[in-house]
Amino acid sequence: MPTQWESLANQHILGIAPYEPGKPIEELERELGIHDAIKLASNENPLPPSERVQKAIVAALPTLNRYPDGGGFYLRQALAKKHGVTPEHIVLGNGSNELIELLVHAFMRPGDEAVVPHPSFVVYPTSVQAAGGIRVVVMLRDYRLDLEAMGRAVTPLTKLVFIANPNNPTATMVAADEVERFMARMPDRTIVVFDEAYVEFAQGPDFPDSLAYMKQGRKVVVLRTFSKAASLAGLRVGYGVADPDAVALLNRIRPPFNVNSLAQAAALAALDDEPHILEFKALGLKYVPSRANFILVDVGRSAAEIYQKLLREGVIVRPLTSFGMETALRITIGTPQENRRLVRALGAVLGKRSA
Ligand SMILES: *Cc1c(COP(=O)(O)O)cnc(C)c1O
Repeated sequence: MPTQWESLANQHILGIAPYEPGKPIEELERELGIHDAIKLASNENPLPPSERVQKAIVAALPTLNRYPDGGGFYLRQALAKKHGVTPEHIVLGNGSNELIELLVHAFMRPGDEAVVPHPSFVVYPTSVQAAGGIRVVVMLRDYRLDLEAMGRAVTPLTKLVFIANPNNPTATMVAADEVERFMARMPDRTIVVFDEAYVEFAQGPDFPDSLAYMKQGRKVVVLRTFSKAASLAGLRVGYGVADPDAVALLNRIRPPFNVNSLAQAAALAALDDEPHILEFKALGLKYVPSRANFILVDVGRSAAEIYQKLLREGVIVRPLTSFGMETALRITIGTPQENRRLVRALGAVLGKRSA
């Protein structure tokens, strides 16, 4: 009898459902016989990277024979300046996704607990499960993270608590006063991870200053990304801001060249790109009653079915069936033109006229 691959595997990973990648848009068009499909499924910025960023990428092309700067010197320096910390407070990741994994691997061992909200970013529970950690799942309340319940779920075994703010897929946020009460009850042995992938869309006086907790010496890690507002999802670059001792630990297990040269050059250029983000806001975000660049819509019937029908109209969105939300779609805000098309298509498949 040959040995089964599964019996060789780390048993912790066997219960994990694989990530289901969507088909390339060109494949879908070919299959359905449609064209000009629009993708509003992954919360990306509908605009391409700015001219300046594209120029920086082109300028970096001739250096591709070399390994990237494994220390991310210039990018960490610029990020440190932006956040009023030192470069030793900054760790770069292959998307913030990788930093979530590094945090879990650096701090959790089998049997340790992590408190994760649900429905939320699936990378938290998957990473914890892969490390043999215990996922303590706390349901959202009225589509919002229930920080009260998350606080109560912390035990002496809790190493990490993940706070997606704003949350994906609900586009809701927890406010400064709620976070203040939550932090007041967090023990010093528990690391609170604020995942702020959509922070640029959520800014306002009620948005919590999570970095302030880090600066006060609390066990806090703040994650940011260039994948959303900065239009660089395809390059994979994110970063964490944390105490230099925490960063040093993450650096022990970080693959040395985890952020490629083009990503570093592009991210550095994108940091001076304020107008690009404002441009995106002017393109429609202020009309959206969410605190992110996407919105959860309850269609009141099978979201999987509506998703399929929208596909045939050339509009790709994300059904939230896998999150246990059978009637919900997550729709990324596109350009005004894309948004109009979505509304028209949704009206058509729901058998309703759109305004
Ligand atoms: C999109 C997203 C991220 C960003 O992931 P990257 O790996 O940086 O592209 C992180 N957290 C949440 C909640 C997200 O929705």
